[in-house]
Parts: sequence; C-alpha cells; structure tokens
Amino acid sequence: MAFYCHRCGTELPPSARFCSSCGTAVVGTPAAARALLRPREGRAIAGVCAGLARTYGWDLNLVRVLAVTAALLSGGVVGVAYLAAWVGIPEEPLSASAAYPPKL
Ligand SMILES: [Zn+2]
Repeated sequence: MAFYCHRCGTELPPSARFCSSCGTAVVGTPAAARALLRPREGRAIAGVCAGLARTYGWDLNLVRVLAVTAALLSGGVVGVAYLAAWVGIPEEPLSASAAYPPKL
C-alpha cells in the first residue's frame, strides 16, 4: 500500500511520518492502515516501543515510561506481551530505514 505526500505528491514508505522531499508531516493517514514495524534505528531493546510510537504518532519517551511502569506493575504480563510483540512485529526493511528522514 503506497502513501503520497499531500503537498508535493511524493510516494512515501508506509512508515514515513514526514515527506522525504518537502518535509511535510504526513497527516490524514489512518493509523491502522500504517504498517507496524520495529525500526532499526532509535530502539532501546527490540524496537517495540519505538515501532508503536512511530506507527501511532505517540511520544516515544512516554511509550517507554508507560511500558516500563506497566511491566513493573503487571507482574510480568506486559513483559510477556513485549516478548510476543518482539517476535510478532516484523523488523523494518533496510530500504525503509534508509528512506526514513533524519530527526528534525
Ligand atoms: Zn512532500
């Protein structure tokens, strides 16, 4: 499934949050339609939190704090869920990582 910049029309990878040509933030894309992938860069452990934050537009640090807090309070349930997500969420392809724009 291809996505296009609403300003300049450049085709973007599903994981893109910003246009690689004009830098416009990608908006109006249904979060559920965007691929959930574990990014190769910016990950702390396996990239599960980074992938969730990027896919749904959440704040990465907030996701990590909530994940760690939930893991400590849930008696291991969230830890198991993290491992399941590690296995279940595919890793980002190398080409998508290369096309991803650097941090602003
Ligand atoms: Zn653009």
